[in-house]
Amino acid sequence: MSSGDLAAAAFSRRSGVLHCESVPLQSIAAQFGTPTYVYSRRAIVDAYQAYARALAGRPSLVCYAMKANSNLAVLNLLARAGAGFDIVSGGELARVLAAGGEPGKVVFSGVGKSADEIRAALAAEILCFNLESTEELERLQQVASDAGVRARISVRTNPDVDAKTHPYITTGLKQNKFGVALDDTLALYRRAAHLPNIEIVGIDCHIGSQITEVAPYVDAADKVLDLVDALEREGIVLRHIDFGGGLGIAYRDETPPTAGALIAAMLARVDQRGHAGKHILVEPGRSIVGAAGALLTRVNLVKAGAEKNFAIVDAAMNDLMRPALYQAWMDVQPVRQRDEPSKRYDIVGPVCESGDWLARERDIALRSDDLLAVLGAGAYGMSMASNYNSRPRAAEVMVDGDRVHRIRQRETVAQLFADESVLPD
Ligand SMILES: *Cc1c(COP(=O)(O)O)cnc(C)c1O
Repeated sequence: MSSGDLAAAAFSRRSGVLHCESVPLQSIAAQFGTPTYVYSRRAIVDAYQAYARALAGRPSLVCYAMKANSNLAVLNLLARAGAGFDIVSGGELARVLAAGGEPGKVVFSGVGKSADEIRAALAAEILCFNLESTEELERLQQVASDAGVRARISVRTNPDVDAKTHPYITTGLKQNKFGVALDDTLALYRRAAHLPNIEIVGIDCHIGSQITEVAPYVDAADKVLDLVDALEREGIVLRHIDFGGGLGIAYRDETPPTAGALIAAMLARVDQRGHAGKHILVEPGRSIVGAAGALLTRVNLVKAGAEKNFAIVDAAMNDLMRPALYQAWMDVQPVRQRDEPSKRYDIVGPVCESGDWLARERDIALRSDDLLAVLGAGAYGMSMASNYNSRPRAAEVMVDGDRVHRIRQRETVAQLFADESVLPD
């Protein structure tokens, strides 16, 4: 898939104007201002259904990794479609509940769950805690015992495979902070099996993000299935296997497998190894929402530098951190194509950091006040936004056919310091 196809899924050009589904982006800018995140309802639901279809006919659950995009409207759409959720904080649990998600379909990941977060998740009766350390197991036992309940757990094992992705988003190597080393996993299960308030239900892994090949998944699956076999030899029988998330999308010229192809390969492995009866969980984030969103921004002014031209836009690194954080390449498209020669620009925000850029060295014809769309911004865009430089966060809208719904009001400057106070005289 090329970036052109990425755009075609949710965003397409009609009569030279970029649309989301049937809505021209300039009408969204006129109604809601900029910067604004724009999502396609159809693209989100279709991406979820691709996973659900591939898993149809066997016990399974798609737990959307909501840190990719945790807007209530996104969560609610997915909950209505039948999704569960992979959460990494008590705040995310609260969002799931507020959005109408079923707590019984929630798995709780993360290396540092606090006692308060554990208590809230036990009270909500979530499906499973994905454990990442011995200390966490002991803490969970204590909190569950105090609450007089049993906590369902799986251990997140670290299969030590190279997901061949950016160093900041690989998680399944020995040197990463995530998961329990493969060699220590059995011992942790043995300990868990002896704790009265712990119920072992599954095993879990998650090897990284923006993965564009099937092979690392199959390697990880083999190692996880080795553990499943070893556990069963000791009489510890698991109900589910959770293969995590991490499937990439085509930002530029990547060619990730489809969700259907990835799941088919995993299921084939599971079946070959004699575990066809196990419940299968997956935790996709980016591949559900990434291609479904764009960040709509307006060119504030054009600055011709000594060596470079800059298009300074009204969105910045605080709105979309991926370029600054990972040197990520994002596709930037003019909303209306100009019929004039292009120039080479760095597309940057107004924030006082040299790292504040959205795209570099793009050939594009533009002028002040033109609208641009940063495509593939549905995942790890708004959910990572900050207020750096006292910039209110963007508005968010969801397009459904020819209708546009505002799903988050633009933040106001007054909101930014409403909770702050000065010292007394
Ligand atoms: C972030 C994360 C995911 C989702 O990753 P994507 O690359 O967005 O699919 C799934 N599971 C866990 C434990 C995560 O931390």
